[in-house]
Amino acid sequence: MKFIVHTYGCQMNVRDSEAVEALMTAAGYEKAESESDADIVIINSCTVRQKAEEKAVGKAGNMIAAKKLTGMMGCAVKRMGADIFRRLPKLDFAVGPRAFGLIPKIVGEIAASGGKAKRILEIGDDIVPSGMSEHVAGGWQAFVTVLLGCDNRCSYCIVPEVRGHEFSRPAKEVVAEVEALARRGVKEVCLLGQSVLRYGIRNAAWDGDETDFSSRHSAFPRLLRALSEIDGIERVRFTSAHPRGCTDELLAVYRDCPKVCRHIHLPVQSGSDRVLKEMGRGYTRGEYLAAVAKLRAFDPEFAVTTDVIVGYPGETEDDFEATRSLMEEAGFDNSFVFKYSPRPGTRSAALPDDVATEEKERRDQVLLADQEARGLRRNAALVGTVREVMVEGPSKRNPDRMSGRDGGNRIVVWDAPAGTKFEAGEKRRIMIEEAHAQILVGKPVE
Ligand code: SAH
Ligand code: SF4
Repeated sequence: MKFIVHTYGCQMNVRDSEAVEALMTAAGYEKAESESDADIVIINSCTVRQKAEEKAVGKAGNMIAAKKLTGMMGCAVKRMGADIFRRLPKLDFAVGPRAFGLIPKIVGEIAASGGKAKRILEIGDDIVPSGMSEHVAGGWQAFVTVLLGCDNRCSYCIVPEVRGHEFSRPAKEVVAEVEALARRGVKEVCLLGQSVLRYGIRNAAWDGDETDFSSRHSAFPRLLRALSEIDGIERVRFTSAHPRGCTDELLAVYRDCPKVCRHIHLPVQSGSDRVLKEMGRGYTRGEYLAAVAKLRAFDPEFAVTTDVIVGYPGETEDDFEATRSLMEEAGFDNSFVFKYSPRPGTRSAALPDDVATEEKERRDQVLLADQEARGLRRNAALVGTVREVMVEGPSKRNPDRMSGRDGGNRIVVWDAPAGTKFEAGEKRRIMIEEAHAQILVGKPVE
């Protein structure tokens, strides 16, 4: 039988889906080329915003109508619980975000019953998924989940509810996983966690004594150092970060380990101290900006990207302007703007969702326009510099150009007529000649 996995949501879901593909393949199922070719469809769902959840549920409905053996996994399953079968009475199975390791067994049971098996729901709240270290073969980049769940309680956020408590995977296991990836040709790893700099805080990730490290944020820098010593690994990235974890020790890693990319995804959410406090983000505007300043003082080209929410309950024009000015001061290289969406059971869901839809839309557009101008300015400062780029492949927009990314995660393109031989994951040095808000254009240099 052939299967396909459809993924909604964040990188963590992308990674979980990849693990499921590896587990299903190991269990003897074949990956389908396309949806029409698949007997089994697994939908990895997101619930961070209402729209995301609706998309996944809608897709599952379509797959059921197309008579596929259909299962759902991921965050929406945990949020909806047994309700998911009220929305989708013919859904074959549903597993929570920490139970994906059970999928091959569940699919096997359903297939063996000839469609007579009971619908299966497995939430598996706080377990560590089996098969976490499994990867699909091939490719030069890989995601590696190092921190599961989240122990923060940001007022608007459903993630802690659906992904459970924080758990740091043992460092030994992570190192072994990355070593195995390196042996298979992986050159770049991106470490995943909701607030990944908290690695090793709730539960010790390293065996033995850690007293030679200066703070409770020591385990993550130590992990970065260990991973950057692995032969074959050329780049180490991670996401998402929090200003509290931007310690001197982390900075020392950037100084000592050239493989650790000088890019940080540091979601700010708001620039208003009043809103930040209500959100329970654990930093003030000043503390956030100080963290950015520290990174940029170390390296002015340090790429800093962020997430912002517009239209949080009670967000005034002044609050919004504070977000705008913070974004300008921080000089973000890129930003992702989200319109507030109340999520059931979160603290902020009890507050009136009082910023009108059109006003959320307007604020979104204003921030996007600001970012265009700022991105262009940040990129223009890189004209004349040489970027070290990992080749990804022909540019999607123009097949006569090759595309790759520099350490700051900036997209870099250069002329390479269609048909040019290339190896994805190869390193190239590109001299930047032209800047746009979203891409840099240049030419290869020796
Ligand atoms: N753990 C990450 C965020 C994970 S959710 C962090 O704290 O840094 C990804 C992004 O979705 C968040 O950064 C936030 O900007 C957005 N988001 C989360 N909940 C939301 C909600 N209820 N409405 C709108 N956007 C939301
Ligand atoms: Fe959600 Fe906050 Fe945890 Fe991020 S840190 S996942 S926004 S609760």
